Amino acid sequence: MNMNTVLLENIKNVYRKISSAAIRSGRTPFDVKLVAVTKTVDILKIQEAMELGVRVFGENKVQEAIEKITSIRNEMPDYAVEWHFIGHLQKNKAKTAVQLFDLIHSVDSASLAGELNRQAEKIGKVQRVLIQVKLSEEESKYGIPAEGCMKLLEEVSSMPHVKIEGLMTIPPFFDDPAMVRPYFKRLRELRDSAAKGGFQLPELSMGMTHDFEAAILEGATMVRVGTGIFGERAAKEEKNSSVV
Ligand SMILES: *Cc1c(COP(=O)(O)O)cnc(C)c1O
Repeated sequence: MNMNTVLLENIKNVYRKISSAAIRSGRTPFDVKLVAVTKTVDILKIQEAMELGVRVFGENKVQEAIEKITSIRNEMPDYAVEWHFIGHLQKNKAKTAVQLFDLIHSVDSASLAGELNRQAEKIGKVQRVLIQVKLSEEESKYGIPAEGCMKLLEEVSSMPHVKIEGLMTIPPFFDDPAMVRPYFKRLRELRDSAAKGGFQLPELSMGMTHDFEAAILEGATMVRVGTGIFGERAAKEEKNSSVV
């Protein structure tokens, strides 16, 4: 099989699993958006995925994304592709992030949101964001603890150029996806209790290659899948990306 065939099979496989899990969760396949994670993936392969129908891509480093997004927008201007930022965002990259990304999944402080608000105002944009929530001690060091979530929602909701569309989490890794389900459930419950406090947050970004079906069963509306579509990343790059 050539590369394109492998890519097509992977994409079909992921969509098949998304559809089946969405239906099992009492929803439709249209309720779950696939974010194809393209960190370390080269431009040609991303363009192949676009030609195969993938329309939403996720990057985790601003610097790496600049060249990719700029040249893809230049070379394929007719493709209505969405770019999502899924990594940790430093405040000094907020300006570039606002220029590049349709949705930023990783807002975890009022000061970062404030900087995004300032930069978005300058270019007349309303920046769509998700709040990244940290649900356990051992997981990634980024994200706001669940206890701080309501206060952050209140602070960010007063910013006219930032629009909060939902919550995101990166749970700890378990070999058995069943073990991670309680974390996905907690993010959904947090979303539901925020709704009682007056914050409508439709999107739940949770689930990666090895656990996205469990995430969908707990209500994920966006799954972030890299390896399952593009194959294993080089070990060196993987190490780098786990540090971000
Ligand atoms: C890399 C990454 C993913 C995708 O991981 P896979 O296991 O390759 O599917 C999802 N979310 C975030 C935040 C990532 O950094």
